[in-house]
Amino acid sequence: MTSAGRSAEIADYAQRLHARGWVANHDGNLSVREGNGRYLATPTATSKAAVRAEGLVVVDDEGKQVGGRGKPFSEIGLHLTVYQNRRDVEAVIHAHPPTATGFAVAGVPLDEAFLAEAVVSLGPGVPTVPFAAPGADACRTLAAFTQGYDAVLLGGHGVLTWGPDLETAYLRMELVEHLAKIALVARQLGGVRPLPSSLLPKLLEARAKAGLGKTESGKKVVVACAPAPPGSDVEVYDPKRQSRGVALPPATELANIIRQEIAAALKK
Ligand SMILES: [Zn+2]
Repeated sequence: MTSAGRSAEIADYAQRLHARGWVANHDGNLSVREGNGRYLATPTATSKAAVRAEGLVVVDDEGKQVGGRGKPFSEIGLHLTVYQNRRDVEAVIHAHPPTATGFAVAGVPLDEAFLAEAVVSLGPGVPTVPFAAPGADACRTLAAFTQGYDAVLLGGHGVLTWGPDLETAYLRMELVEHLAKIALVARQLGGVRPLPSSLLPKLLEARAKAGLGKTESGKKVVVACAPAPPGSDVEVYDPKRQSRGVALPPATELANIIRQEIAAALKK
């Protein structure tokens, strides 16, 4: 697809987010990978209904603006964290669809496997990335969830989805919101009944066969947007160092460490 085609597509999906009622005010943002360390993204402080192809911004892999008219949005670090940890990802979408965001802000997990098709499409439930202050902390917390997942609830915030193209990322946003609506009704009717656990291996096998739920083993999980806290195991993304060929420990291993850290922090 040409750059002009990608711009038109971003504007189209931005308007769809607004039409679906998944964003209000200036909420939400979309981006696509342009190649050569460049990303095309929606501008900040713009209603998604008003996004036009000619009003997009281009940022580099540190989130700095290198083209376009508007200004980049502050959550670009979340998008870059996904891109830099998943080379297969070409598009990222962030929105606040009301039901799924309701789960995210109520601290109610949506991580049970209760619909077979959804397990194949999204994995055994949609994980919640624990709330972290916007910026470096939020990127660091998200980084561990980029492996094996394609959609997450952002605790106290909203939903982030990604995929090989904008349509897939958009459909994943739609599915997360749909699952949240179903789970909400089920809770009103007495609660979600998880699928029998004996069924899960088969569904996850179908998921793997479909090439979904990718991890990049052998690659270090990186945080795109700001320095990692002192003593942290998380490597801050540094294009210069990476291009010099610094050896990177396994992403999956680091993801496990961060998940354990998060679990321990939540218990405190
Ligand atoms: Zn947001």
